[in-house]
Amino acid sequence: MTTLDVLVIAAHPDDAEISAGGTILRLVDAGARVGVLDVTRGEMGTRGTRDDRDAETARATEVLGLAWRGNLNLPDGRVQAAPEAREEVARHLRELAPDLVLAHHAHDPHPDHEASALLARQGWYLSGLGQLAKQAGGPAARRPAQLAHFMSHVPFEPTFIVDIEPVWERKREAILAYATQLERSDEGDEGKHLLYGADILERVETKARTYGERIRRRYGEPLLTTEPVALDSPLIRWLGARR
Ligand SMILES: [Zn+2]
Repeated sequence: MTTLDVLVIAAHPDDAEISAGGTILRLVDAGARVGVLDVTRGEMGTRGTRDDRDAETARATEVLGLAWRGNLNLPDGRVQAAPEAREEVARHLRELAPDLVLAHHAHDPHPDHEASALLARQGWYLSGLGQLAKQAGGPAARRPAQLAHFMSHVPFEPTFIVDIEPVWERKREAILAYATQLERSDEGDEGKHLLYGADILERVETKARTYGERIRRRYGEPLLTTEPVALDSPLIRWLGARR
């Protein structure tokens, strides 16, 4: 059975790449086993067939070097944190056994993102309940140690900013894998199907530069934890390699 160190839970295929792609690549480069659980197949997109979207997701998965990718197959545009869905998330967490979960921010204005954030948090909590695990069969109750949020639309004051300068080109490549969502088909195409308009890469770059500047790096990706994070060995993070 596949087990992971980190599981990213994202509403639509491409959300993980756009909002957490750099963090994923840094974790993978450091030897972590990272997986992505997409909540929908993104089938409400007007461009590209379902097969196109699946092929694009497979290509992006390869670029990110993921150890696992799955899909809850909830309806695109109508995601709800229903009991069955959050128990399905809990089951994935018990089986895949990650220590860290990355999810959308709870106050994202896109309803699917907001519902997916709730689904992740509730599933995370339920994964640690013994009685539920027993009823479901399979692995025993186990709750990942940490849940953190990546940034999609709504800005927040981050707990961490990940330096993604070393993996910036590969993050761009992972987003570019979703070609049907990024390109206009011909002159008459108004580009209404495009992700946030035609300038998704520009917008992703602007955000990465903004947060990178705050940590004096070229590119950064913000993360938020809602609980304080314990540092082992007091202050080792700041003493760095000198010790
Ligand atoms: Zn999305």
